[in-house]
Amino acid sequence: MKIGYYPGSFDPITFGHLDIATRGAKLFDKLYVAISDNPNKNTLFTAEERCRLVREALKELPNVEVVRSEVLTVEHCKILGATHILRGLRAVTDYDYEFQLTNFNRRISNDIDTVFLMTEGEFSFLSSSSVRELAQFGGDVTPFVPKVVAEAIAAKINKRKVAK
Ligand code: ADP
Repeated sequence: MKIGYYPGSFDPITFGHLDIATRGAKLFDKLYVAISDNPNKNTLFTAEERCRLVREALKELPNVEVVRSEVLTVEHCKILGATHILRGLRAVTDYDYEFQLTNFNRRISNDIDTVFLMTEGEFSFLSSSSVRELAQFGGDVTPFVPKVVAEAIAAKINKRKVAK
């Protein structure tokens, strides 16, 4: 059985992530989408909120399971029995970082390989950070994220405004 593991911050999940997860789900018998819970990272959404949004966004994919990760990627793969790490590639700017990460992971455990899917051209410019920035300046994020995410972003930003 081929089991994939797609890790990321997903802060928040975008149509670019959705594209990679949808295509990845066809490559593997089962695909874990792992939401990183790194307390040192300052995120817009908590790990719990990100899990809920990713679950909602990927609910049509029956062989996908969303999990939260508080351990090293390769450790988590071993715990879950995942055989491959899945990552998405946008422009060449992703390459350096992914190259370093892949080799680091292989150094820790060389029996778990990483596979990459190229993003669809229309999502090549899309990142969670640009969505967060757009939202903070009052822009319309609906072309870039699922409806449930756009609603959650609006609620979060309004709550922050009220708190100020
Ligand atoms: P991380 O903090 O691990 O980079 P992200 O949530 O930003 O977490 O990204 C998780 C994975 O999804 C990475 O492999 C990243 O390259 C990929 N990814 C992010 N945005 C896109 C996109 N628009 N198209 C394809 N892949 C993407």
